[in-house]
Amino acid sequence: MASEKEAALAATPPDTDSPTIFDKIIKKEIPSTVVYEDDKVLAFRDIQPQGPTHILVIPKVRDGLTGLSKAEERHIDILGRLLLTAKLVAKQEGLNDGYRVVINDGPKGCQSVYHIHVHVIGGRQMNWPPG
Ligand code: 5GP
Repeated sequence: MASEKEAALAATPPDTDSPTIFDKIIKKEIPSTVVYEDDKVLAFRDIQPQGPTHILVIPKVRDGLTGLSKAEERHIDILGRLLLTAKLVAKQEGLNDGYRVVINDGPKGCQSVYHIHVHVIGGRQMNWPPG
């Protein structure tokens, strides 16, 4: 399996709203371990966890938000909801001593899936600076 960096460098940032693997996860066409879901967001376990807990929080409707760099005024509500859901799932996972929230953007940010997503990683001591 390609490393996260290799996958990110191989991924082509889309010009359009072309579907990604996350659309299939939203439609339940491929399996995932869902830890939270409502009408706007879905949170599920990352297939290649970078810690004992690694959850991805995504909007169910992308609306042009392939990544954070595409955010506009109309996305304020969903961006807030993604962060609040990150907090909710961290609490649900018992990450009471802290955790990391990450949004990778673009090739240099190591983004490999162009449907905005918030990583919630915890259950181990994090380091700084990140790699
Ligand atoms: P990015 O590198 O774009 O910030 O993060 C994409 C994340 O999606 C990676 O951590 C990767 O492991 C995860 N991922 C990619 N494909 C799948 C999949 O089919 N299922 C799940 N659960 N996670 C996936």
